[in-house]
Amino acid sequence: MIQKILITKEGKKFFIKNIDEDFHTQFGYIRSEDMKKSKPGDALRTNLGTELMILNPDFIDLYNKITRGPQVVTPKDIGIIITETGIGKNSVVLDAGGGSGALSFFLAHICKKVTTYELREDFVQILEKNKELLGLKNITIKNKNIYEGITEKKIDVITFDLPEPWRALPHAEKALRPGGFLVSYSPNITQIAQFVQAAKKSSIVVLKIKEIIERKWEVDERKLRPFNRMLGHTGFIVFCRKG
Ligand code: SAH
Repeated sequence: MIQKILITKEGKKFFIKNIDEDFHTQFGYIRSEDMKKSKPGDALRTNLGTELMILNPDFIDLYNKITRGPQVVTPKDIGIIITETGIGKNSVVLDAGGGSGALSFFLAHICKKVTTYELREDFVQILEKNKELLGLKNITIKNKNIYEGITEKKIDVITFDLPEPWRALPHAEKALRPGGFLVSYSPNITQIAQFVQAAKKSSIVVLKIKEIIERKWEVDERKLRPFNRMLGHTGFIVFCRKG
C-alpha cells in the first residue's frame, strides 16, 4: 500500500510504501523520522538540500500508477461515459472486459458498486493487483466470459470494451433495469456498425455514437500552441438505453 507521496517543485512524484524507512531519490534521501512527524503539505528537505512536499495520495495519484495489461480506455472517453449516463453514487454498474481496470476502477471510484467480467486469468491478476493499489472495496472481479451470460440483475449501467460486443447484447438486455444504459466502446467503426445492427433487433435503443478528440496545448512564455503530436484515435462509443 502507498502511504505517502513526495512531490518536487516540477511535479515529479515519488511513492512511499513504508515511512518506517528512509526514502532514497536522485535528489538525496528523506529521513523516515521527518516523514513520520510531517503533516500533508509540509516541505521536507533531502540530505542534499532539495525540498519535496509530502502528501497523502489522492485517488488520481494511485490511478495513474495502475499496471496496464491490454489497451486501456483513456480519461477523455471515461469522461463522456460518465456525463452521458449520469452515473453516480447510487449506480450499480457492470463492466466487461475488465482488462487493466482503467474504466472499471474509475467507475468504482464514483459509483455504488461495480462488477467486472474478465476472460483471461492473467488480466484478472492485474485487476486484483490494481484493486489493492487503489484500496477499492466496492468492485467485484469475476473471471467470466460475458458471452455466456450475466448473473447480475437490475443493473443501472453496463459498459462493454469487447472484441464482439454484439454477442453480449442479449445478456445485457436481461441484466439492465428499464431505462438503464448500455455503453459500448470499440476501436473500429465496423464493430460499432455490427453492434448497432444487432441492437435494432432488441429492446435496446441506440441513442448516439461519439468519438472524442482531445488536443493538448503547450503554454509557456513564447510557446503558445497545441503540442505537435497528439493521440490520433482511441475508440468510438455507442450509447444505448433499455426501452
Ligand atoms: N476497458 C479495459 C480494457 C479492456 S481490453 C480498461 O479500461 O482497462 C478488452 C478485454 O476484454 C481484454 O482484457 C480481454 O481479455 C477481455 N475479453 C475479451 N472477450 C471477453 C469475454 N467474452 N468476456 C470477458 N472478457 C473478455
